[in-house]
Amino acid sequence: MIELDGATGEGGGQILRTALTLSMITGQPFRIANIRANRPKPGLMRQHLVAVQAAAQVCGAEIGETSVGSQTLEFVPKKIKGGEYKFAIGTAGSCTLVLQTLLPALLYADTPSVIQVTGGTHNPMAPPAQFLQRAYARVLADMGATIDIQLNRFGFYPAGGGEVIARIEPCKQLQAIEMMTPGKRLSAYAESFIAGVPANVAKRELECIGTSMGWDESQLLVRGLSGDQGPGNALLVTLEHEHVTEVFCAFGEKMVRAEAVAKHATQQVRHYLASGAALGEHLADQVMLPMALAGSGRFSTDRVSKHATTNAAVIGQFLPVGISFEESREISTCVIAAT
Ligand code: ATP
Repeated sequence: MIELDGATGEGGGQILRTALTLSMITGQPFRIANIRANRPKPGLMRQHLVAVQAAAQVCGAEIGETSVGSQTLEFVPKKIKGGEYKFAIGTAGSCTLVLQTLLPALLYADTPSVIQVTGGTHNPMAPPAQFLQRAYARVLADMGATIDIQLNRFGFYPAGGGEVIARIEPCKQLQAIEMMTPGKRLSAYAESFIAGVPANVAKRELECIGTSMGWDESQLLVRGLSGDQGPGNALLVTLEHEHVTEVFCAFGEKMVRAEAVAKHATQQVRHYLASGAALGEHLADQVMLPMALAGSGRFSTDRVSKHATTNAAVIGQFLPVGISFEESREISTCVIAAT
């Protein structure tokens, strides 16, 4: 039984999600105390509870009495089973973080899987669905895995109601890769997804991006959505390079000017481009787990977050790898090596 303290490092939900994924894959049971101890509302939120229940269902795990607010969990996995699954978060809790927990595990099933998750698809502090489609799934494809992600309906905070469907083909041996440079730029564009909010907001956001990045109209795309998917607004910037695709996002909010939303997105894009690193902060913390499953890997990133170092420590408790960071102000390197 692996013992985890959810208060270590960043003390957020990632410790739990990573533990669930790796427990399913390795068959090692774990016990965690102090779940999300450093968050304003500690313990399981709906999104985490659904991730726990979904993981348990997929691998027939025994979990005791677990509910919203639980701060401890014991998880004893059995065999991962592919097939069709449906999970409803029931709030705007993030569908993509539930998928982040399940996708790597279902690569180890004997049969293909189709998972439908309903809830939030575009939440602050979580990968937007397009990030999984364009950035994360591409890295996994480079490692030999086939994951297809379909966004059927947007779910914005606080209403939720979105739907994502993921199809996963089994792939029990991921190939090790290195991602040290982005390579040549293939395309760059900004999209403002907007539902139930005046279209003018999207236009202003995109104009700002156009001006600050020097992009022309063909790279600035208003994506109007039906009003019943809103209210909501997500500004996404996608940079497709030879070796990697990155997706940066900022969210429109009441009382926040469109220009401020655009500036937030531009700052992230500029920081990434100026560094010359292959991966942005979020993709960096998300590729460590599949790279560790492959046995080794290496990448450069523009920022090593506390989230990443916390995640690395949890991965090291389940898999025979060491994860080290060589940090510097502009560009840092992460090395995953077998121990
Ligand atoms: P909790 O609320 O449960 O404490 P947490 O601390 O695990 O959650 P975060 O630190 O916010 O949550 O990160 C959750 C995950 O979402 C991380 O893998 C992070 O990389 C990813 N993430 C957050 N924002 C983005 C973004 N803009 N693009 C892509 N991924 C993101």
